[in-house]
Amino acid sequence: MQTQEISVLTGQEIAPFPQRRTDDNPFKGTGKEAGFYLSKSRMARYTTCPRSYRLAYQLGIKPVKTAVELLIGKSAHKLIAESFLARAANMIPDLTGLLDAFWSDEMQAPETRAEMEQAKSEAGRYACLFIREVDLQPLAVEKEFSIPIVNYENGDVLPVSLVGIVDLVDRPNGSTGSPHGGTPRALEIKTRSRKADDMLPRVSLELTCYAYWIRHQLLSELGEDAHDDKIPVGYLNIIKTKTPSIQKQEGFRTTRDFIELYETAKAVYESIMKGMFYRNPGTHCGWCDYAPVCAGKDRAELALIFGEEACDRLWEADLI
Ligand code: SF4
Repeated sequence: MQTQEISVLTGQEIAPFPQRRTDDNPFKGTGKEAGFYLSKSRMARYTTCPRSYRLAYQLGIKPVKTAVELLIGKSAHKLIAESFLARAANMIPDLTGLLDAFWSDEMQAPETRAEMEQAKSEAGRYACLFIREVDLQPLAVEKEFSIPIVNYENGDVLPVSLVGIVDLVDRPNGSTGSPHGGTPRALEIKTRSRKADDMLPRVSLELTCYAYWIRHQLLSELGEDAHDDKIPVGYLNIIKTKTPSIQKQEGFRTTRDFIELYETAKAVYESIMKGMFYRNPGTHCGWCDYAPVCAGKDRAELALIFGEEACDRLWEADLI
């Protein structure tokens, strides 16, 4: 029997989270199967290059070897999340143990061991810097959501859910006269090689998705009392320069942003349903995993990068 969940935003009882993320299932990307959903990653990938969306989510092609930078970011994230969770439970987190567990598989190959040791130590350094310098009391850590995509202008609802995980939620304004205290804020942790552009917190799709979740929850839990129109958002960037630092960025989203989110999601959804997976080459090809596919590399070369089974799927899709 499912038990009621207490909202981290309003303290009220709400329906429990209905489903886990299904990113691990690559075949949930065509829009033709049960469980199809949109997320900030899916929308961002489709709008950047529809072919890359098809390769990632429809055909499930991914490099055999995970990029070291990705591993560093993921392990630093994990340590930070565990640190906040332990602090909330008045416990001391075993960060060294967590770091060792995360990197144990990566240490198996002797030829890359030195590189992985270096990466592991970097991840630990970044996480410690963040934990030392970012002082906040989160209402939620790595909060999952799955919600309808509604047009606040006319009440239309897309036949697909918006799914995501917010890194941190806090309440920066304390009690500001609102009946439920200050408005909750969605925060995203990023590891970046250089400082992020100032405009990013104002325009990023992922922060709009997270603010939309907060707005949706406030509306469904508080009804007419949910009169906060400005939802605060922010980035906490770990800048991986020689002397690492933390860059804090703030912004907010309003109903106008949520109507635009609906329009974007609708366009992406309808294009996927129509099977529109054209190439959109540009500077983003420089950091796209699928550049070797688009460059017409032969099967033997692609098999080294993506594996034999992935090559079978590429061949069946007429991409090699
Ligand atoms: S290399 Fe460029 S064109 Fe090819 S899938 Fe990636 S982003 Fe698209």
